[in-house]
Amino acid sequence: MVRVIERDAKTLYTRSKIPGVDWVVNQYVGCAFACKYCYARFLCRWKPYGEWGEWVEVKRNAPELAARHVRGEVVMSTVSDPYQPLEARLKLTRRVLEKMDKRNKLSILTKSPLVTRDVDVLKRFPSVEVGLTLNTFEGREKMLIEPLTPTLKARLSALKVLHEEGIETYAFVSPIIPGITDVEELVRESRDFVGSYFFEVLNLRAAGRAFRELLREHFPESYTVLTDDEKFWKFVEGLKETIKRLGVRSEGIEIHRGGWEMVRV
Ligand code: SF4
Repeated sequence: MVRVIERDAKTLYTRSKIPGVDWVVNQYVGCAFACKYCYARFLCRWKPYGEWGEWVEVKRNAPELAARHVRGEVVMSTVSDPYQPLEARLKLTRRVLEKMDKRNKLSILTKSPLVTRDVDVLKRFPSVEVGLTLNTFEGREKMLIEPLTPTLKARLSALKVLHEEGIETYAFVSPIIPGITDVEELVRESRDFVGSYFFEVLNLRAAGRAFRELLREHFPESYTVLTDDEKFWKFVEGLKETIKRLGVRSEGIEIHRGGWEMVRV
């Protein structure tokens, strides 16, 4: 049972440190999808509600705050999924979108096909892109890594619907785990309805100690590639070659090796 904490926030738009992004919006903080590697789990240090995935903070006045005028590119969301299960009932994300200044460039990232419910509102933004995070976790891997998220099939269907509705789409292929994530399959399955791709190799540090232990125990070969410099860079080179060969529009490969880095392809 997920604990829901409702509160009023002072502000909704936060200045972003992401290159090229002006504002970040999180109407939820915390995420019931509870991915075991979630990089936002560090928030548990300041939120005394339980383990990551056990609670969700809801900014109940987010729609009113969304009406504030800001200029620039807005990204939704960074410390939650805007279409996590609670959204089906609360419609908070939908109400935020309705109130937002439509002149802003908007970028949304989710793992959920629920985003297709809001196609009518999304279409009111002249400049909007919607990304679905894709991965090939299946069976035992999915149970261990992200048991509660929608299936790959559901996410691909969502991308197809968005594309058919004329909404710009992108795929965030993440987290790429050596030996587990099949990048080639993901591109093959999605390329007909995806405009561009972002690739991201797992950020082992941000994923937290428990996830590192999980990898070491259940996927020792993946763990070795991620922790051994020589093997890691060889893997990245191979990934670059695969992406080049696939010939898709790519923003590059995000890697985290002491700091954030974008490897151009
Ligand atoms: S869906 Fe995204 S925000 Fe939610 S737990 Fe998974 S990685 Fe974190």
